[in-house]
Amino acid sequence: MEYENQFPHSKYECLLFDVDDTLYPLSSGLSAQCTRNIREYMVNELDMDESKVPEMCAQLYRDYGTTMAGLRAFGYDFDHDHYHSFVHGRLPYEHLKPDPVLKSLLHSLPIRKVIFSNANEAHVAEVVQRLGLEDCFDDVICFESLNPENQITIPNGPKSSVIEYDDDCKRGVVLPESPIVCKPFENAFQQAFKMARINPHKTLFFDDSIRNIQTAKLTGLNTVLVGSSERRTGVDFALESIHNMREALPDLWESVSKSLDAGLSQKIAVETPVEA
Ligand SMILES: [Mg+2]
Repeated sequence: MEYENQFPHSKYECLLFDVDDTLYPLSSGLSAQCTRNIREYMVNELDMDESKVPEMCAQLYRDYGTTMAGLRAFGYDFDHDHYHSFVHGRLPYEHLKPDPVLKSLLHSLPIRKVIFSNANEAHVAEVVQRLGLEDCFDDVICFESLNPENQITIPNGPKSSVIEYDDDCKRGVVLPESPIVCKPFENAFQQAFKMARINPHKTLFFDDSIRNIQTAKLTGLNTVLVGSSERRTGVDFALESIHNMREALPDLWESVSKSLDAGLSQKIAVETPVEA
């Protein structure tokens, strides 16, 4: 679909959406189960100490954007597809129901819509399909698009290079780099802009994570924090639910209808012959 320059009165030419806890609410329970699956993966597949896993999982998530990115930084080699099928493939997707309200909101905005998620393609597709939003998006940026050359295929790779997540690391004194590209880091945003041909200054970005929103703001994106009505630094708009889009962002619809009206009057002017 080509929307560019179609709505000259609109401040935005693209809407960029996170998926998890943004397109559906946190109360679905998927995120909580995802955390349990990640912890189980760390204990069962990476032989990590069960008593340390919850804290380490949270710390890696905080430091690296995703626990997976943190595990890779600390030298754990594992097959990404296997990780994703263990962590996401077993989620209770049946908790997600078709969302005709959101579908209708998205359809009523003839502006380009792109998904930008740290999750893998299969997970994004499953969520979008369960919500009944398959025909709502024009492009998808996900784990595979952000990490095309990073497909490690060593299911039980050597763990000799694993770095101890010691107190120095916890204090942030020596944090090894991760090979994984993901939000909330700016390189992930820049890569997404390039791949999906996005002008951040003309794009509205929806995400439930305040740190993603804050990086987004630094890149020039206009931001909408979803899942909270609290306005914080970097947040242009805050919505309790994605369903509140129309009430919180009336300008979006008004600018589109202005452009449509302008287009219609122009068309009528052209098509009505002047009789003189
Ligand atoms: Mg999210």
